[in-house]
Amino acid sequence: MRPSFHPKLINDSFSDPGLFIPFLFEKRALLFDLGDLSKLSARDILKISHVFVTHTHMDHFIGFDALLRLLLGRDKEIYLFGPSDFIQKVEAKLSSYTWNLIENYENTLSIHAVEVKRDKMLRQRYSSRNRFNPDGAPQELLFAGNLLSEEHFSVNAVILDHKIDCIGLTLKENFSINIIKEGLKELGLEVGPWLRDFKKAIYEEADPARNFNVVWKNKNKIIQQKDFNFCDLKEKIAIISQGQKITYIADMIGSPENITKAVDLAQDSNILFIESAFLDKDKDMAQRKYHLTAKEAGLIARMSRVKELTPFHFSPRYFGQEKELIQEAMTAFQSGT
Ligand SMILES: [Zn+2]
Ligand SMILES: [Zn+2]
Repeated sequence: MRPSFHPKLINDSFSDPGLFIPFLFEKRALLFDLGDLSKLSARDILKISHVFVTHTHMDHFIGFDALLRLLLGRDKEIYLFGPSDFIQKVEAKLSSYTWNLIENYENTLSIHAVEVKRDKMLRQRYSSRNRFNPDGAPQELLFAGNLLSEEHFSVNAVILDHKIDCIGLTLKENFSINIIKEGLKELGLEVGPWLRDFKKAIYEEADPARNFNVVWKNKNKIIQQKDFNFCDLKEKIAIISQGQKITYIADMIGSPENITKAVDLAQDSNILFIESAFLDKDKDMAQRKYHLTAKEAGLIARMSRVKELTPFHFSPRYFGQEKELIQEAMTAFQSGT
């Protein structure tokens, strides 16, 4: 089965953090952290609809300008999420440029900034039509862990302690539906737009006893149609599998409270990307700087029973010692030591 999301770290583990998550069958992507984007093509950057900034330390937020530069002059809505003070940070970025001519551009770029606090979110909109001035007072929304919910997936977050708030993120696919070609053949059915409605009915948990009408159209003219029992059809032509779960944890101190939150967030993930800034021998320094050690990262992966671990975001002091950091995280993940 092909997973619908193919996450990849944008840079090597000593460079700025950032996880690019393209959608398999759509020209769309999500981005976790907004560091240096120069390794991403313009084509890929233009696919991004939602950006989740864990915190606004420079290495996680410096890509804002590159993103804005590319989007300017295009019709686009982009959503940016970030922790406490995020609206103020976005406004500071936007107000550092002169926008006296953009309201006459043909296209409209809208930026929605969402600030995630302990129990609420504030959403503010900025439009190129209005020289990126804030669009009235921010809208207040409830926050109980969920940042974004769509038909096929959701993005959830937890607020971690990095001496400032830092958002831990998880992307969960609801479940995925694969169509069995032989099953279609046996029933004399052809692939067509009706499959989209069929999948939608599965996602919406339609009544299994209902009938499902398969309709083929050509230029809005019905060519053929056939009625099936929804449940029978589902059994014959669809394989439903558990969706992927991808967790991304950037900067946090390895305190007991943080570790509990991180383990809950990452529970049973297919893949966990987690910062592993320091070696265990330098644990004191990791604590002072509010970062994890590779060992702590590995133990979090083990406790949350993730299938795959990718340690990243190494301190530059270990340049040339990448193997040791990976080894330490993997040993903790596999054997708990
Ligand atoms: Zn940081
Ligand atoms: Zn960092």
